Amino acid sequence: MKFESILLPGIEDKRPLLIAGPCSAETEDQVLKTARELAANGVKIFRAGVWKPRTKPGGFEGMGVPALQWLKRVKAETGMYTATEVATEKHVFEALKHGVDMVWIGARTSANPFAVQEIADALSGVDIPVLIKNPVNPDLELWIGAIQRLYNAGIKKLGVIHRGFSTSDKTIYRNIPQWHIPIELKRRFPDLPIICDPSHIGGKRNLIATLSQQAMDLNFYGLIVESHCSPDDAWSDKEQQVTPCVLNEVMQSLVVRDTLQSTEDLSVLRGQIDELDNEILQILSKRMRISREIGMYKKEHGMPVLQTHRYDEILKDRSSQAEKMDMSGEFMRKVLEAIHEESVRQQFVVMSGRD
Ligand code: PEP
Ligand code: MN
Repeated sequence: MKFESILLPGIEDKRPLLIAGPCSAETEDQVLKTARELAANGVKIFRAGVWKPRTKPGGFEGMGVPALQWLKRVKAETGMYTATEVATEKHVFEALKHGVDMVWIGARTSANPFAVQEIADALSGVDIPVLIKNPVNPDLELWIGAIQRLYNAGIKKLGVIHRGFSTSDKTIYRNIPQWHIPIELKRRFPDLPIICDPSHIGGKRNLIATLSQQAMDLNFYGLIVESHCSPDDAWSDKEQQVTPCVLNEVMQSLVVRDTLQSTEDLSVLRGQIDELDNEILQILSKRMRISREIGMYKKEHGMPVLQTHRYDEILKDRSSQAEKMDMSGEFMRKVLEAIHEESVRQQFVVMSGRD
């Protein structure tokens, strides 16, 4: 696939390409106030959700077509380009009719090939940038499939948005980053611009700066960040929205390094280390959960917490396995001792806890 630039006229080819705006367009005042503040800070592309995919019916599902008039006003008044999410053929036609400059396909939609195909067909022959969010589930091939559907419909100004992946594990993230997935996508399609969405990955305001920096360190091209003039009053995703002023501070604090090959390689490797550490933590937390279950069992059956024979077996078995995997047995012993200590502590909590 040969992609064309997603840059719109007048937008500098400089990292990070920034797209910012509220999760949802709520009222004309909220949209315009936020847009004016963002424009004053130099933001050039304004995002706002007009149709909101909600888990359950009855919530705020977006203001729909009337909100597209507000985006028109944003464009006329501030000169910013506008972007919104499309999930159906109707959304595409309405967005185009109202002069939206850029559209994105949401994570729930890109997980559905029928929906992606419908959007691709509706966009056929249209020359605007289209951004494709990763599907909610960590399926790189499904993400690539969505890119291909758009590309085959003649859309060449393509970019992707990494917004993390849903998980049932307990993590600090709303959607775990699993950086190795966008990294692999970048390896396969080096010319495809990747934009990071720290708002939907983190789900919390205080994670936006770190995630944005990580995305820059991984040499991502841009950032799409949710920003609201009054985040606490937002009608959707309020915990993860920041004021234009806070967003500006985050952007000022970003360190964007030159993409010299050597530095780039190092950042990629470090990103992989971060990702692996994250996986180690997930696995450890699963292991502790199982330890607690064992603790419950022991309690119910009147068994002691420490079973020396089993512990000894684990130590021997894992340290000889580690040696076969290019690690010292002594190192593995220390790791296991620390893990075991914590498991015993957690079992004690279960044993002494409520019935
Ligand atoms: C959004 O950008 O507001 C949104 C709904 O995101 P996602 O599709 O990533 O959940
Ligand atoms: Mn949102």
